[in-house]
Amino acid sequence: MNIAEKLRNTEQTLFSFEILPPLKGDAIDKVYENIDPLMDFNPAYINVTYHREETILKPMGNGLLKKKTIRKRPGTIGLCAAIQAKYKIDTVPHLLCGGFTKEDTENALIELDFLGIKNVLALRGDSLKGERYFSPEEEGNAFAVDMVKQINNLNQGIYIDEELENKHQTNFCIGVSGYPEKHFESPSINVDIKYLKEKIDAGADYIVTQMFFDNQVYFDFVDKCNAAGINVPIVPGIKPLSTKRQLSVIPTMFNVDIPDELAFSVLKCKDNNQVRQIGIEWAIKQGEELMKHNAPALHFYSMGRSKNIVEIAKSLF
Ligand code: FAD
Repeated sequence: MNIAEKLRNTEQTLFSFEILPPLKGDAIDKVYENIDPLMDFNPAYINVTYHREETILKPMGNGLLKKKTIRKRPGTIGLCAAIQAKYKIDTVPHLLCGGFTKEDTENALIELDFLGIKNVLALRGDSLKGERYFSPEEEGNAFAVDMVKQINNLNQGIYIDEELENKHQTNFCIGVSGYPEKHFESPSINVDIKYLKEKIDAGADYIVTQMFFDNQVYFDFVDKCNAAGINVPIVPGIKPLSTKRQLSVIPTMFNVDIPDELAFSVLKCKDNNQVRQIGIEWAIKQGEELMKHNAPALHFYSMGRSKNIVEIAKSLF
C-alpha cells in the first residue's frame, strides 16, 4: 500500500513525522538516535526535508569577502534509503523545483525508483536567501504543479527524451503541500486553493498542511478544499513549540498565527523547559481534537529533535 492508500484506508488516525538531514559533518547515528524512540509508536511513514544551496560570504583575510555556495544539509535521498533499509518503513523525500532542471528532477526520480523509494513530496521551494522572489532554473519546473505533472508523466513511462526505447513506468505516490492560513505569496486563500486543486488534478494523491496552532483553521481549510472539489486525504501538520524565540521565528518563517492563549502561556514561562511542556500539552490537545474529527494522520514537524514528540505520541497513539 502506498501512503495515499494507507491514509485513505485507515480507520484510526496514523502517526507520521518529518526529520531533517543532519548538518554536514554530522553522522547518520544522530538521526537514528532521534528516530529510535519514535518507532515504538508505529509511524506509518517518515518524511525527510530537502535543503537547497545557500550563498555565504567568507572573509578572505585581506578585508575582502568571497561568495561561496554551500549546502548545509545534503543527503536527503541517501538518508531516505538508509532509513527504509534499517527500519523497513516508507520514507518520503521532499523534492524541490528550486535548483533543479527538469533533467535533474528526472534523474533524482530514477535514483529514487532504483532505491525502492515510492513516495515523494513535490514542492516548489522558497527563494534563495537574498533573492526577493523565487526563480526556477532555466530548464526547471516553476511551480510544484509542474513537478507533479513530470512525476505523473514518469508514472506513465513518459520521459523528457521521447525517443527512449525502454520506457519503464514508475509508480510514485505524490504528496503536495497545502496552507490552511494560505501561502504567503498568494493573494487570497481561495486563489491558493484553486492552485492546490491544480496540483491534485495533475496527479497528486494527498496533501500535507503547513503547521497550524488553531484546529479551526484546519477544519475551515478542509471544508474549503472539499467545496473546491478536492477529495484527497489532507494530513494536518503539527509543530510543538519548544522555545520562547519561536513566538517570533515561526510566524516570520512560516507565515502562521499563534493563538493568544498559547502565545500568552509561553510568554509567562520562566525558561524553555516550561515552554517545551506548554508545547507538548498544546500539541496533545490539538491531536486529540483532530483525531476525534478523523484526521487521516497527524504529521509532526520534529525539526530533528524527538523528545517532545515522544511525550505527545505516548498520549495519543
Ligand atoms: P506551489 O504549490 O508551487 O505554490 C507556490 C505559490 O505559487 C503559492 O502562492 C501558490 O498559490 C502559487 N501558485 C501555484 N501554482 C501557480 C500557478 N500555476 N500560477 C501562479 N501561481 C501559482 N521547503 C524546502 O525548501 N524544503 C522542504 O523540505 C520543505 N518541506 C515542506 C513541507 C511542507 C509540508 C510544507 C507545507 C512546506 C515545505 N517547504 C519546504 C516550504 C515550501 O517549499 C514553500 O512554502 C514554498 O514557498 C512553496 O512551495 P509549494 O510547493 O507549496 O509551492
